[in-house]
Amino acid sequence: MFGTGLLKGLGVTLKHALETFEDDRESVPDRYKGSLDLGNNRKVIQQPIDQEGLLTIQYPEEKRLLPERFRYIPMLIWDSEKQEDRCTACGICAKVCPPQCIWIVRDSDENGKPVTRCSEFYIDAAVCMSCSFCVEFCPFDAIKMNHDYELAVYDRYPQLVYDMEELTVPLEYYAALWPTQYEEEQARRKEEEEQKRKQEEEKAARAAAKQAAAAQKAEAGAGAPKRSAAELQALAKERAAQRQAQTQTADGGGDDDAAAAKRARMEELKRRAQERARQRKSGNGSS
Ligand code: SF4
Ligand code: SF4
Repeated sequence: MFGTGLLKGLGVTLKHALETFEDDRESVPDRYKGSLDLGNNRKVIQQPIDQEGLLTIQYPEEKRLLPERFRYIPMLIWDSEKQEDRCTACGICAKVCPPQCIWIVRDSDENGKPVTRCSEFYIDAAVCMSCSFCVEFCPFDAIKMNHDYELAVYDRYPQLVYDMEELTVPLEYYAALWPTQYEEEQARRKEEEEQKRKQEEEKAARAAAKQAAAAQKAEAGAGAPKRSAAELQALAKERAAQRQAQTQTADGGGDDDAAAAKRARMEELKRRAQERARQRKSGNGSS
């Protein structure tokens, strides 16, 4: 029938309007119940995820409490327990970033050798698309997504290119924004550290056992020589005799060869001398 769709649409609008009044009635006497007061009439309002209807928020005085998994621009984590940046300048985040808005410069020591920390780290917030790939791929939990979305400035460059100092936040800040994820990560890190410690202990125990076995073997070997003194003497005599026999054989063979060569040479010289004498003789006779 003509106009049915129109009536349906109006029905949806009416439903939302009525639900709004219902939610308002539920929140009576204070719709700000459970909200955080930021002072100066500024509040953070918590709207339950299952709440229906239209909830008007007087931004910027009022803001919604953001869900934990909200993400905007990445932040770098300063590990307050270890007093160091978690970032090792591995560059994986820069490689996987789809719009390539991360720049990293690796630091080096006094000899110019590269070290596992950054000297510079930049993110162009105007290009970042909040995809969180950098966070997913970071092997050191060094980069996380920040909730701070109030980044408006008059000039894009350089205000929206954040450097390392602007990006770095303490671990406690991250723990407050992402409490569930932080707890899970801490539990995993503790488990990994425990495993690593156990592996190192086992390795040390194996090395100690090996060393002890080698020492025991050496000690046992020192107490019982493999050959007696008489056997060693006999062996030395036998070797000396073998060496002498070899030397004699080598000397004898060399003499024979040299003498044969000398004899052959002499024979050849003799033959040539006789030939020349014959030639001279025949020359004198003909002349
Ligand atoms: S933030 Fe993570 S992935 Fe990126 S360079 Fe640092 S350690 Fe590597
Ligand atoms: S959130 Fe995505 S776009 Fe932004 S820096 Fe990380 S990887 Fe790049």
